[in-house]
Amino acid sequence: MKKRSIRFKLTLWFSLAQIAVVAITLAAVLGASQTVLRSTVRNYLIGTVEENVDSIDYVSAKEDLPDYIYVPYHDGYLKIDPGYMDVVNDVETALYSKDGTMLYGSNPLAIQTEGTAFSESYTWSLKVDGIRYDLYDRKVNLENLTDGELWVRGVVPETRNTAQLNEIARLSALLLPLLLLLSLLSGWFLADRLLAPVRKIQQTAEQIAEDNDLTRRIETVTTKDEVGKLATVFNRMLDRLQHSFDSERQFTSDASHELRTPTSVILAQTDYILEKDRPAEEYKEALEVVQKQGRKMNTLIADMLDYTRMDQGAERYPFETVDLSALTAETADQMALLGTRGIQLTSDVDDGVMVNGNALLLSRLLQNLISNAYRYGKDDGHIAVSLKQGPDDVQLAVSDDGIGIPTAEQIRIFDRFYRADSSRSTEGTGLGLSMVKRIAELHGATLELESEEGVGSTFRVFFKK
Ligand code: ADP
Repeated sequence: MKKRSIRFKLTLWFSLAQIAVVAITLAAVLGASQTVLRSTVRNYLIGTVEENVDSIDYVSAKEDLPDYIYVPYHDGYLKIDPGYMDVVNDVETALYSKDGTMLYGSNPLAIQTEGTAFSESYTWSLKVDGIRYDLYDRKVNLENLTDGELWVRGVVPETRNTAQLNEIARLSALLLPLLLLLSLLSGWFLADRLLAPVRKIQQTAEQIAEDNDLTRRIETVTTKDEVGKLATVFNRMLDRLQHSFDSERQFTSDASHELRTPTSVILAQTDYILEKDRPAEEYKEALEVVQKQGRKMNTLIADMLDYTRMDQGAERYPFETVDLSALTAETADQMALLGTRGIQLTSDVDDGVMVNGNALLLSRLLQNLISNAYRYGKDDGHIAVSLKQGPDDVQLAVSDDGIGIPTAEQIRIFDRFYRADSSRSTEGTGLGLSMVKRIAELHGATLELESEEGVGSTFRVFFKK
């Protein structure tokens, strides 16, 4: 069963459930009908017997009434009304004396019930040759017959009332396999229709696995049901996969490109110096160039590692409640010690600002913004770090009065490896701000930049409360 297709299982369960419902309903209806019929027949049996009891009288002499039947009994006659029904609707009634002698009427079970004692107003059953019979005994009380007890026994076979039910049961037994076939067929086609989008998903997934083409999507799924939703989710997952696959590829290509420059410089320098014997001074200069480029590569590789680690493994950085006030004040104090090119750093931090986040990432964000402010700040300039608790959000800001960023470049500086032309002379890898952007995203925070060329820049991060 485990290996069977969903279509097969659906059809099977659907059909079995249908058959079960029909069978249970049928059994319940037949059972109820049987009970009703039996009680109806029994009532009819009792009614007939009671009526017949009323049709019997005892007279001492025959009268001149032609329609009546006179059965000799004791010293007189039992006078039986013409209304006495000995066989009506399969109910047969017979009149007995106390000792069990049949005096009048008929009884199909005369032999089988011979010698069976009579009990007053008693209904009982007897099975003969596979047929069930209902019987009813009734004592006849005649005022003028004091000596000599009489009994009327009514008998009705069950065959008549069950025949119709048996017919229904027989018909149902014939119809059930037909119904099963019908529900199997309809289930099979229904399952096919319902599962068509699933097959499309399967085919698309197989094609992607075959040719690695992440641009494929599931088409023509218009239904809004679970399967339709599954297809939409599958397509969305493919979008994301393709996006991260593309950006992965882009990152590798950008990284190679960035590493190429220092590598080329090192190779050119070493080729030149090794061409022939050179004075010691020139070797020293060449080695200094190699060292500088080596350092550059080192920073680049370290930054790239940091970036990919953070980008690919957000689970490495678990979130918790972070005291952003303490973190900001501490980072600002530490970085103020740098004191590069006479730049002054001051901070204005509100107390007790807590956010949900990762302390390591948040301090990385702040470090990147402050080191940029130093790097692109003017000599003897000023950096202001502030943390403000607003009514709806928390605002973290780093301002400088440095070279500023041209409007046209303001969007692009958050891209990986992007560096504005004005900053080419400074050290840097172009990864700092893209890391800031990613960290802000991970914290559900928004970034804002206000900058003017030659005046300075302010980077603001807004954390939702
Ligand atoms: P890097 O600083 O290593 O070049 P970043 O991603 O940190 O890389 O920054 C990207 C670019 O944005 C920088 O090259 C620089 O041109 C510009 N930039 C960033 N911060 C500032 C700032 N405070 N003032 C002026 N320009 C900035």
